[in-house]
Amino acid sequence: MPITQQLLKKTIAKHTTLKNRKMKIKKLVSQHRRDFTALMECEFCGHQEMNHSGYDDRYYHDNVIPNMKCGKCGESTISKGGEIERTATHYPEGYQI
Ligand SMILES: [Zn+2]
Repeated sequence: MPITQQLLKKTIAKHTTLKNRKMKIKKLVSQHRRDFTALMECEFCGHQEMNHSGYDDRYYHDNVIPNMKCGKCGESTISKGGEIERTATHYPEGYQI
């Protein structure tokens, strides 16, 4: 196989591995207005932990969760250069609950 093809294959494989690997919301346990409790799961090592301080707004989903470090392996979406998934908020942004 030509070297360029090998490199391309490697790059694709690497990208696929990193994609969607992060601390993510596994299960929403409860939500009161924008405050929520959720079971988080690390997609690097499969570790699960409860998050009692969730806040359902764009900032939290786009900035806080991607920076959340796994209590077991210490990795986050940002530290691994993974893709930040756009998670929809339950209530529209700016909506008074
Ligand atoms: Zn982990």
